[in-house]
Amino acid sequence: MSLVANPGRSRVPDSSSKGEVMSSSTTHAVPEKPRLTVIGTGYLGATHAVAMASLGYEVLGLDVDQAKVDRLASGDVPFFEPGLPELLREVMDSGRLRFTTSFDEAAEFGDVHFICVGTPQAHGSHAANLTYVESAFTELAARITRPALLVGKSTVPVGTAARLIGLVRAAAQDPELIDLAWNPEFLREGYAVQDTLRPDRLVFGVTTAWAEKMLRAAFAPILEVGTPLVIADLPTAELVKVAANSFLATKISYINAMAEVCEATGADVNVLASALAYDDRIGGRFLKPGLGFGGGCLPKDIRAFAHRAEELGVGQAVAFLHEVDSINNRRRRRTVDLVRELADGDLKGVRVAALGAAFKPNSDDIRDAPALDVADMLRAEGADVIVYDPQAMDNARRDYPQLTYAPTFAECVKGAQVVVLLTEWQKFRDADPEMMGELVERKAMVDGRHALDADAYRAAGWEYRALGRPAQPRTVQLVEDAKDQVMVAAT
Ligand code: NAD
Repeated sequence: MSLVANPGRSRVPDSSSKGEVMSSSTTHAVPEKPRLTVIGTGYLGATHAVAMASLGYEVLGLDVDQAKVDRLASGDVPFFEPGLPELLREVMDSGRLRFTTSFDEAAEFGDVHFICVGTPQAHGSHAANLTYVESAFTELAARITRPALLVGKSTVPVGTAARLIGLVRAAAQDPELIDLAWNPEFLREGYAVQDTLRPDRLVFGVTTAWAEKMLRAAFAPILEVGTPLVIADLPTAELVKVAANSFLATKISYINAMAEVCEATGADVNVLASALAYDDRIGGRFLKPGLGFGGGCLPKDIRAFAHRAEELGVGQAVAFLHEVDSINNRRRRRTVDLVRELADGDLKGVRVAALGAAFKPNSDDIRDAPALDVADMLRAEGADVIVYDPQAMDNARRDYPQLTYAPTFAECVKGAQVVVLLTEWQKFRDADPEMMGELVERKAMVDGRHALDADAYRAAGWEYRALGRPAQPRTVQLVEDAKDQVMVAAT
């Protein structure tokens, strides 16, 4: 059971029929401003810790990675996230934010503990690897000697919270001191600070009134400005996140499936997407055709969801997610095909400039990055690939040492026989086709993200190709504002 509630009106869902409940206690006090810990200070946790400290809370961030903790403690964000370094320095100066590797310190300090550790895809399986989550919950539970709410923020398969209740109870010195809740996170990398401070909704998965009150106290400044709040039971709260990601992934793969049909028929998927976007029921967001989704969330989340549904005997209900994944992966291979076509059918020795490495612009995250996958496939076919990304070079070099990297955008395209746009950074979108044309050996562009002005490139003498669009321009005139209806997908 769940309901949308205004900040002032909500009720804890009836958990009597939902099985596991962590604590029967609703008598613990609720501090006006609970002290918060954030366990796991990666992309999600570091942002959450900094944002909550900026809202006036005392926050202790914990990570098992000493180097990460040291960097954060010195006021340095170990990854690229616009606006976060400035906010980190501000809250470090205020003294409200500290970092540690000590679970003893975290247990002693916190009233509300947000668990933000990774849940990557398990090796050799589509399941989520839950060892980090289990370890974080039990390490903490074993040390707690004061009333505490343990709140999962990591994305987990439905049913995880119920299982964690058993593990926490077994590990705890006094289980009655501990309650467990789930608060899924919807932030988008690249917009993480604003998404954390001004989320479009909050979801609290709770089983006691005390847990709800503690979460309300922990999010008071966000709720006070009218942010919608959904109170749910634990499995619903877990499901909200994977259901949302599955929907977004499906929308992206839907338009990319249409791109495949366009390729077989000579139709233009950009025009098709523009026309679809005029329908309010469909809308233009996430209807952007191209190389598809990647990153540390969407791909592993839809796989883990399908895997979990199969375990639960409802695999058929989300069997379409396998197809969503396949469509997405086919876009990567098809991008390689387009580059090969522009290289007259053979990539051996062909100098290819690969623009982008991050899974999306405004991030240095290369987890399951389509860009690097494509660059590596081109390399495997014998192309002389050179990669450039404005922010993700260090991460790319670490995980793809077999690729060659250019120090600048200009060095990357210099002498290229084919240029392929793989991550739509603004810098690449803004590039002047005339000037770029003077640097390359041959003016051949594969626009893997439908981010460039095809007419401007063709006018500057480029051969321009994009997935799902005819090789030759058509005489059809696009209505200008129809183009604007298709907004850039931001995952
Ligand atoms: P990440 O890999 O950047 O960070 C995870 C951190 O957890 C790492 O710093 C790691 O050292 C730390 N860690 C691992 N085990 C630990 C333990 N036992 N105790 C303390 N720290 C530990 O991952 P992320 O992108 O921040 O994602 C974290 C979770 O949040 C995942 O479940 C992810 O699906 C979810 N999520 C991520 C985003 C996003 O945009 N990155 C958005 C919403 C939800």
